[in-house]
Amino acid sequence: MKKIKVLMVAAELTPVVKVGGLGDVVGALPKALVQLGCETKIALPYYGSIDSKKYHAKNIAKSISVAFGGKIEKIDLWSIVLPGSQVEVWLVKHAYFSPKEVYLCNIKEYRNEERFAFFSLAVLEASKHIGWRPDVIHCHDWHTSLVPLLLKTSYKTEPFFAQTRTLLTIHNLAMQGQTKAEIAEMANLDKKHPTVKADLTDGNINLMYQGIMNADLVNTVSPTYAKEILTKDQGANLEKYLKIRKKDSSGILNGIDTGLFDPSSDKLIKKRYSSASLRDKTANKLALQKEVGLPQAENTALVGTVSRFTSQKGLDLIDDRIAALPCQFVFLGTGQKEFEDELTALAKKYPDKFNVQVKFDAGLAQRIYAASDIFLMPSLFEPCGLGQMIAMRYGSVPVVRATGGLADTVDARVGFSFKKYSSKVLCGTLKAALDVYKDRPKTWSKLQSTGMKRDFSWTKSAKDYAKLYKKLASIK
Ligand code: ADP
Repeated sequence: MKKIKVLMVAAELTPVVKVGGLGDVVGALPKALVQLGCETKIALPYYGSIDSKKYHAKNIAKSISVAFGGKIEKIDLWSIVLPGSQVEVWLVKHAYFSPKEVYLCNIKEYRNEERFAFFSLAVLEASKHIGWRPDVIHCHDWHTSLVPLLLKTSYKTEPFFAQTRTLLTIHNLAMQGQTKAEIAEMANLDKKHPTVKADLTDGNINLMYQGIMNADLVNTVSPTYAKEILTKDQGANLEKYLKIRKKDSSGILNGIDTGLFDPSSDKLIKKRYSSASLRDKTANKLALQKEVGLPQAENTALVGTVSRFTSQKGLDLIDDRIAALPCQFVFLGTGQKEFEDELTALAKKYPDKFNVQVKFDAGLAQRIYAASDIFLMPSLFEPCGLGQMIAMRYGSVPVVRATGGLADTVDARVGFSFKKYSSKVLCGTLKAALDVYKDRPKTWSKLQSTGMKRDFSWTKSAKDYAKLYKKLASIK
C-alpha cells in the first residue's frame, strides 16, 4: 500500500527549539509515525537560535518566492534531520525568524501573527518548490492555522495540492492568534470566503478560528479537554464553532518521548535508577538540594514543579499556606513577571523550604523530575500536560488539579488530585500526599512503581493519528 505522506507544520520542535509541550509533541510524534509506515516531514521556521553546525544544516533551495504584504518575499530552505530519527526537517529561512526567540515579546501588536501567517504561506510554497506533495498537512495551534484556509482559497485551483487534506491539532485554545485585520491583507486572504468575511466583521482576524472552521479534521490533545472546550467555561469564545465541527473532532492524548525521559538511561541526572532500584532516586534528591541551596535532607519530601509561570498553570494558588507543610519545594519556570516575583518573594521568605529557579533549563528540569518525591501541577486548565507524565516516569508522584489531560492521566493508583480551584484544597491534597509519603512507605512505593510502569509512549496515540490521516486521505 502507498505510504501516507504527512507534513507537520509547527512553531516548535524539541530538541531543536522548545518553548513548551507543543515542541515535545512535534519532536516525538513523527518518530512513532515512521514506525507505523507514514512518510513524515516537519516544517519549522529557521530561528536565529538554531545551531546550524550542531544539526548539520544543508541548504536545499534558494530564493523561493512568497507573495506577502503586497510584495514578493524570498525564502531559502534548509534541511536537518530530527535527532534520533531519519525524519527530515525543513527550515524556512527569512528575516522574520532571524531573532533567537520563537515568540517575540515587546513588539508591535500583530508581529507574531504576521510572522506565522507568512510561515504558513512559505511552507506551501516550499512544498511546491521541492515537489514533495503531502497527502496530509498536520497543522499545530494558531501559528499554522491559516494553512487549511489557504488550501481552500488561494491554493484551491493549484493542482499540486488537489489531494492534500488538513488536520489541525489544538494544543492550547487559550492562545488563538487573534489580531488586526491587516494580517488578512498581508496574507492576501479571500475576503469573500465565508469564514474570513464572518471573522472580519469586528475588524479582527482570529487565526485559530480559521483553522477550526477550515481544517478537514480537528483534534485536541486529550479526550477530557476535547469535551471541556465545547463549554462556555473553557471554550475561550470558540465553543460555538467547535460544536459546529464536533463530528469532525476528537481528543487524542499526547505521549512523551520515553527514550528521552528515562531515569534508567538519563545522562543529565546524578544517579540513574529504575522501578527496581528506587532507592537510588535519593542520590538525585540530595544532589538537587545541594545544587539549588536547600538543606540536604533525604527524608524530607521534595515537591517539584517545572512549568511556564502563567495563570493557566495554577500559580496563583501558591501562597504562604504551603510553607506550613512538612516538605521542600523547587519551582522551575519562566513567564509572567508577577508570578516570577511572587515565587521569588516566597523563596526569600522561606529559604530553607522554598526554592525558585527563574530560567529555562532542560537539564535542571530533568534533575527535578528525578529528584522530587512529588510533582505539583495545579493547573486552572490543562489541554494535556506532559509534566505529570514525565514525573510519573521518574517515580515522582503527581499532585494535580483534575482538569483536561491531568484528569485523563492521574488516577488514585498513581497520584493525587483535587477539583476545586482553591489554595486551601490544594494544600489539603498535598498534605494527604505527604501523610502517605511519611506514614505508609509501601503504599508510596506502589504509587511510584505503578506510575513508572504506565505506558506513556506515543505508540497508541500515534496509531490514533495514523487513523485520522487515513480518514483524511479518503476524503474526496
Ligand atoms: P505547556 O505545553 O503548557 O507548557 P506541558 O506540561 O504540556 O505544558 O509541557 C511543558 C514541557 O516544557 C515539559 O516538558 C516541561 O518539562 C518543559 N518545561 C517547562 N518549563 C520549563 C523550564 N523552565 N525549563 C525546562 N523545561 C521546561
